[in-house]
Amino acid sequence: MARTRCTDRVVGAILASWRYDISGIYPEMRKDYEHHFAECAHCSARQKFHRSLDATLAVLTSLAVFFFLFALAVLHHIKPLEHVAFKVFGLDIFDMYHMLVSAGIAGLCFSVMAFALVLMATPAPSYLGGIAAERARLIEERLPAAIKALRLR
Ligand SMILES: [Zn+2]
Repeated sequence: MARTRCTDRVVGAILASWRYDISGIYPEMRKDYEHHFAECAHCSARQKFHRSLDATLAVLTSLAVFFFLFALAVLHHIKPLEHVAFKVFGLDIFDMYHMLVSAGIAGLCFSVMAFALVLMATPAPSYLGGIAAERARLIEERLPAAIKALRLR
């Protein structure tokens, strides 16, 4: 990626300032940039890198939300650290439980905010939606003719 060079430095600089995201501009204005992505290996590689970065951030923050929810569910149903807290650390069970629940709620709030920020600030939703639509189209192509006939009704 570092060895390739942009074929048009002015357009490349504009695209770089947008993090290679042209989904926010009008379709009429988009054509020139789409043409540049088609001919410039440097910029199209950069675009792919930035979109996969956005998707990774969206996946990681949604996983964080899931894990904090899971941790709160575990704390709610079983209190596995009761014995550790009481015997090893000599802590009060009530304090330990409330400390863990507070940490879980704080982590959940933080990861929900991070996830919302990723979805608002990056084109990750449309990128992931595009991937999902492409997969759905590929699966649909492989369906047997009998099922395809049912879907067309
Ligand atoms: Zn370029």
